[in-house]
Parts: sequence; structure tokens; C-alpha cells
Amino acid sequence: MTGKNNIETNAIHVGEEPNLKEGGSGDVVIPIHLSSTFARKEINKPTGGYEYSRSGNPTRDALEKKLAILEDAKFGLAFASGLAAESVIALTLLKSGDHVIAFDDLYGGTKRLFNHIFNKNFKIDFSYVDARNTENIKHAIKDNTKLIWLESPTNPLMKLCDIKTISEIAKNKNIIVVVDNTFMSSYFQKPLNLGADIVIHSTTKYLNGHSDSIGGAIMLSNEEIYKKLKFNQNAIGAILSPFDSFLVSRGIKTLALRMERHNENAIKIAEFLKVHPKIRKVNYPGLKEYPQYELAKQQMSGFGGMLSFEIKGNLNEAKLFLENLKIISLAESLGGVESLIEHPALMTHSSLSQEEREKIGITNSLIRLSVGIENVEDLINDLDNALKNFD
Ligand SMILES: *Cc1c(COP(=O)(O)O)cnc(C)c1O
Repeated sequence: MTGKNNIETNAIHVGEEPNLKEGGSGDVVIPIHLSSTFARKEINKPTGGYEYSRSGNPTRDALEKKLAILEDAKFGLAFASGLAAESVIALTLLKSGDHVIAFDDLYGGTKRLFNHIFNKNFKIDFSYVDARNTENIKHAIKDNTKLIWLESPTNPLMKLCDIKTISEIAKNKNIIVVVDNTFMSSYFQKPLNLGADIVIHSTTKYLNGHSDSIGGAIMLSNEEIYKKLKFNQNAIGAILSPFDSFLVSRGIKTLALRMERHNENAIKIAEFLKVHPKIRKVNYPGLKEYPQYELAKQQMSGFGGMLSFEIKGNLNEAKLFLENLKIISLAESLGGVESLIEHPALMTHSSLSQEEREKIGITNSLIRLSVGIENVEDLINDLDNALKNFD
């Protein structure tokens, strides 16, 4: 199989081509290779290149091939979690005294990792800027800036940044651009094609898509950086298990179908919420009145299934609303087939101080919704009924 096919086809076939050779079994699905070690006939010839499952495993290899093709990348790597993937990037590309510029509205766990480990223990300096305005990135660049870390759209405020322009600025200064593409998935946005150097995903979310595996991925085409990351993936040991590799591989096969439905449902829900008398504001890049709608259309091929909104009420009203939903689960995480809703200030972003939250706009009235692929009328009725629980 070559990479010439389209994403829907690649997502199903790449990495899982049946072995039709003599002795092959012709499986159309990659088996779960649970073996921790691999026997060899000759002392310096590992059979099929495999030695020990931390350094390489056939099921993980199959997934890594699939991951690469999703982002039009040459290489893919699978990790035990999104944060494990992020840690390996930071440990590989940064050293004490380096400077990183990051979007100020990053995933809470990413900020915790940067602030509590890489800043405190390794003396790496972070500047958080509002990357909606590219000038803010430009002004934050210092002589020791090594990395620009972006999410677009961000979590939970759905802010976008211009990945292409930022990547051009970074290239001129030899700064590496990393994009966390978890929210759009590889289906709706391809940061490498916009000029970024490295893409990461929490595969826990859309790529696996069924809320039953924690995992992370890195995709890139730069061979020199890939070799270092691959070496450190083994040296650090933060690998994805064979069983999870199988699950993510299976999930990816329906990525295209799922993303189309997430997108379709999210647009309908955003339209419903924006005219609802108890809703103050809806953050969804697919709404024509969204301030960055034009940029969204330019760099994304869809708008995804994530949105956030502010209710006309405070913490108490937020509780009355959230605790009375019947179909939509009150839970952290996102990107599964089932709809999930949460309160960023009390849940996903509670590790940030109130001051940090207020600075970027995470208020007690803000709700984040991961729109699933259920029947959209059922979801709208559920939201409508729970909104009746406060005045
Ligand atoms: C969940 C998430 C992560 C962290 O991934 P884990 O798999 O939970 O470690 C990173 N970035 C974004 C945008 C996420 O949503």
C-alpha cells in the first residue's frame, strides 16, 4: 500500500496489509502481539527486526504506520498517553535554560507538565501568549527560544491561531513548531501541511474515539528529530501497550465517519444554543459570527465536535444544569462516540489558579461540550430539558 490513497482508505488499510506470503496467515486485522520478547535463530539477527517489546512491537508498529499516514507524515510514534508523548518531546528537544512560547489557553495537563516539571525541575522558561494575534508570538521570541507549542482550536475556549504564518516565522529563526492536533483530529486539520514540524495527539480522544483507551501519538517527517524521539521512546519507556495499539488502530478505521457526524451534530447544537434565552455566548468556530471563522475555514476542512458556551448564571446554575442531563454524561475527556460535558473551572482546568483562569476567560459559567454521534434531536432535547432547571 502506498500513501496515494485518501484518508478514509488509509485509515482502514495502512499498517494492516494481509500477509499473503508462504507461512503468513492472511489476517485482515493486525493481531495483538502480546509477547514481551522475540526469539532469534542467529545471535545478531533479531527475527523480523524485533528484540523486546519496549523497543518495538508488531502491533504498535502497525499503528505507528497508520498514525503517520493520517497526518501525511513520514513517521509516527505511539505512547502510553498524550502527556507521555509531550514529555518525550520536551525531554528530547529541550535543555535547561531554553525558552518555549506556548498558547496561553493550552490543555490544563500540558500547562501542569510545563510549569511543575519542566519549569520547576529543569529550569526551562515558558512564555504563555494569546496566539490568536501572531504579533504576540513574534514579540515573545528570544535568542534562546527553541520551541513554539500550539493548540488550535484551544481547550476549552476554542481560540484559533494561524499555524501557517507562525510556522513561517519560526522557520526563519530555527524554532521548532509543535501543534497539539487532538481537538480537530487528523481528519479536519493537518498542521504539518501548514508548515509545523511536529504534531501530537492524545489518541485517548478522537483517534481512538471510544473512551476506552489512554494513549498518545507523535507524527512528523523530519528524520533527524524522529530518530532522537524514537531512541528516547525506548530509553524512557513510555510506550503504548499492544492491546491499546490494537484498540486505537480499530478506532481510527471509523475516524472519517465519526468526525463527519461529530461535526454535523456540533453545528446543529451550536445553532440551537446560540439563540437559547439561557445562553449568553457560544464558542464554536463553525458559526459564521465566530470572530475567527475565516481562519477556521482556511486551515481546517471541518469544525469538529467540540464547543464551549456560557450560561446566564453562575456556579449554582451550572450545577443545576449539568447534574440534570440524562443522556450527556458529566465527565472529563472528549472525542468519544458518546457526548460528554464538563465544567472546566471545577474539572479539567482546576489545576490552574483562579487568577490564571480568569485571565484567559474560564469563568464559573463556562461549560465545555464534546458532542457525540448520537441522534442530534435527542441531544438537543436533553440540553433543553436540563436548561429548564434554573431561572
Ligand atoms: C487529553 C488531552 C491531552 C492529554 O492527553 P492524555 O492522553 O490524557 O495524556 C493533551 N492535549 C489535549 C488537547 C487533550 O485534550
